[in-house]
Amino acid sequence: MYKWGARSLRRMQGVNHLLTECATRALAKSRYDMTIPWMGGVRSAEEQKNIFDQGASKADGTNNLSYHQSGNALDVEPVGYNREQASNTFLPKARNQFAQLMFNEFSRMKARGEIPENVYLHWGGLWGASGWDPQHFELREL
Ligand SMILES: [Zn+2]
Repeated sequence: MYKWGARSLRRMQGVNHLLTECATRALAKSRYDMTIPWMGGVRSAEEQKNIFDQGASKADGTNNLSYHQSGNALDVEPVGYNREQASNTFLPKARNQFAQLMFNEFSRMKARGEIPENVYLHWGGLWGASGWDPQHFELREL
């Protein structure tokens, strides 16, 4: 049973507790050890602008806000995601199974009334034809 490392816990500080709780329960059932990457939690407007300037986000932090700025987004990657030996199949497999676990745990929490009815989980792996942000999870309100 996997648990967050100290660095991941630090990077999750300030993120909506419903999202971190969901991710923690998903991690406990994950077949892969997961981690929170750099800038995977709360971001300031400046940090968001930096990431935008590097071409790594579509939100510029001022006119177009990221859910990371409000603490309603969390990025999660399998441990070793940035290593060269992460094979072509390892990444999608690990990301997809974690997303499945996230949706399962989110449904459970919702069924128990731990998450308000109007709150939904979005996964960036379902965005666009190619699922361009598979590390990204965010909470949205109806
Ligand atoms: Zn993200």
